[in-house]
Amino acid sequence: MSTNLIKIDKSAYGFLDFGAARVEKVSEDRQGDFGRYLEEGRHAGMGYLARNVDKRFDPAQLVPGAQSVLCFLAPYGQASGGVAGFAQGVDYHKVVKDRLFAVMSDLKAQFPAFEGRPFVDSAPVLERYWAVKAGLGFIGQNNFFISPEFGLRTIIGVILCNIPYERFVPHAPLTVTECGSCGACLRACPSGALRAPFELDARRCISYLTIESHEPLPEDLASLETRHGWRFGCEECMRACPWDKPLAPLPEFETHRQELKTMNDADWASLTAEDFETRFADSGLRRAGLDHLSKS
Ligand code: SF4
Ligand code: SF4
Repeated sequence: MSTNLIKIDKSAYGFLDFGAARVEKVSEDRQGDFGRYLEEGRHAGMGYLARNVDKRFDPAQLVPGAQSVLCFLAPYGQASGGVAGFAQGVDYHKVVKDRLFAVMSDLKAQFPAFEGRPFVDSAPVLERYWAVKAGLGFIGQNNFFISPEFGLRTIIGVILCNIPYERFVPHAPLTVTECGSCGACLRACPSGALRAPFELDARRCISYLTIESHEPLPEDLASLETRHGWRFGCEECMRACPWDKPLAPLPEFETHRQELKTMNDADWASLTAEDFETRFADSGLRRAGLDHLSKS
């Protein structure tokens, strides 16, 4: 292996894994799947997914001059208090982006011509697709990105940059490239949102309904009991997956764990908007809003 290849010390930034992919148009197959998802309305109220589709399918349109997609995996922990594992601390968008900025700053110091932009689930970027292209894992039938080494509990951070992907040390080849077909995720889905392998309908997905949607929940999922205790998120199709494994989470992902663990229905119901804003100012829980969270 050439000694000139760029090695990113992923663990120095708290990431579990790293890989680079070439910037190119997204495959026609993936474009077709995404198009069907939109046409069938399975993206529910996430209208932003239907915008900037050209950029989503071609990162060079999003960041002119980009030559590679650098992908990083940031670990999070278990769910607690009906709140998904990724939401037990500071908002993951900020946590992961801060760490990507640190990577970019070091690359800039090493290569003054380096230019890049970080993305964490907030722009038209198909993070899971690029993580697969970068050789980090595969997509499971439950639609999660799965790393055969690290499992499902990772946030994917992406940097689009102007260094060709061949300049980076390639990821070691995977020994497994698909999840198998045990079907446990489909059987575990309480709401029928995972209606077929790889086919998620957000209109029925408890995770979407309790995090992103600001509409009232469908009647049959309106109570905590019928949605299996999930207040913010849902991990049923993740927990059922044999690839799921516990990870040591980034410390910022854990900062609210203790209070979330001990808060009961009455605590949520009595929380004032002011208290909520103060106590959870840095948390992704604010995406759902207190109204949704306090409903049980
Ligand atoms: S997150 Fe929950 S509701 Fe959504 S597909 Fe998975 S199991 Fe079903
Ligand atoms: S539960 Fe089974 S079918 Fe579903 S993603 Fe995991 S391995 Fe694949």
